[in-house]
Amino acid sequence: MTKVIQAYIQEHTDELFSLLRELCAIPAPSHHEEQRAEFCKSWLESAGAEGVYIDDAKNVVFPYACEGSEKISVFFAHTDTVFPDTEPMPYVDDGENLLCPGICDDTANLAVLMMTVKFLLAKKITPPHGILFVCNSCEEGLGNLKGARQIFFDYAGRVKQFVTFDGHFSELADRCVGSHRYEVELRTEGGHSYEAFGNRNAIAELSRLVTEIYDIKVPVIGNSKTTYNVGIIEGGTSVNTIAQSAKMLCEYRSDNEDCLATMQAHFERIFAAAKSRGLDLTVTRIGERPCMGKVDLAKIEYMAHTVAEIIERNTGFSVERVSMSTDANIPLSLGIPSLCLGVCEGGGMHTREEWLVKKSYHLGLAVGIETVLALTTEEN
Ligand SMILES: [Zn+2]
Repeated sequence: MTKVIQAYIQEHTDELFSLLRELCAIPAPSHHEEQRAEFCKSWLESAGAEGVYIDDAKNVVFPYACEGSEKISVFFAHTDTVFPDTEPMPYVDDGENLLCPGICDDTANLAVLMMTVKFLLAKKITPPHGILFVCNSCEEGLGNLKGARQIFFDYAGRVKQFVTFDGHFSELADRCVGSHRYEVELRTEGGHSYEAFGNRNAIAELSRLVTEIYDIKVPVIGNSKTTYNVGIIEGGTSVNTIAQSAKMLCEYRSDNEDCLATMQAHFERIFAAAKSRGLDLTVTRIGERPCMGKVDLAKIEYMAHTVAEIIERNTGFSVERVSMSTDANIPLSLGIPSLCLGVCEGGGMHTREEWLVKKSYHLGLAVGIETVLALTTEEN
């Protein structure tokens, strides 16, 4: 099979790059993936895929040999990017790298997933169990994993393993990071900065909350990692007005369920204390990514070991096992063995300077194809 894969890659490297370029040209902010979804659907159909559909969450779903298959494997790559742009973003080839916002996260991974599907169809490979290929929506930020939630609702009880192509070669996520995100709005009586001096200032009060958050000592259990962040703060009316309202977006994350609960208690204590000082505070939970549930760790170990070997043999990169916050959070919270691997190399994720390394990109297609074959055609 290795020779067949190598020959396919040689013949299709140009196509992989042009698919990537076409995808990059279609803006896809979270919740607004419709254009990219339409493109993916037609592309898959022209590659020979039958039964492709777009669901309510704007996922492009291709059930491959799923009919009559009780247990299915699910492969994801997300279509959305963190950028709100609705016009095509600049795409630059500097010889060594391709630069475009969102190119690695997750467009290059998406193109590999699509070319992997094309390979299976071209070689008429029929897996013993069904495979669900999904170009999914809403992985980023406030997309809040809407695409993944929809798939695990629609296919509840049928998924035996889950893999998402996201990130780059050297990181393999076999654990997930859960998080809670909040919008906190604070209002005070405000007033004229001179006449009403002494009235409470919403910015000052909110700043106190920020300081209290940054005084939290994060819990540690074993080798767990727990963090917090205040990402956006805004408010006030003018330089000579005692601010009447102020708002922030904040979050905490952990790869340990108990630590996540401890952080929740800290945040709730801070919010409760502010209310008890008589402040008008509205706290809205705007995001919730669950931690790991009870999962067959031996199965994850098998998947991670298999995939790490494929990446290292094909690319020469050494693979580090990490915890991340991805679409895999949903299946992991449901107890489904899951992995997140990258099938490209690059950097600057979530910045406008994001780049993809050209010379190793075709190797990602070998990793993509081998991963799907290894995890679905062998009985495991
Ligand atoms: Zn991503």
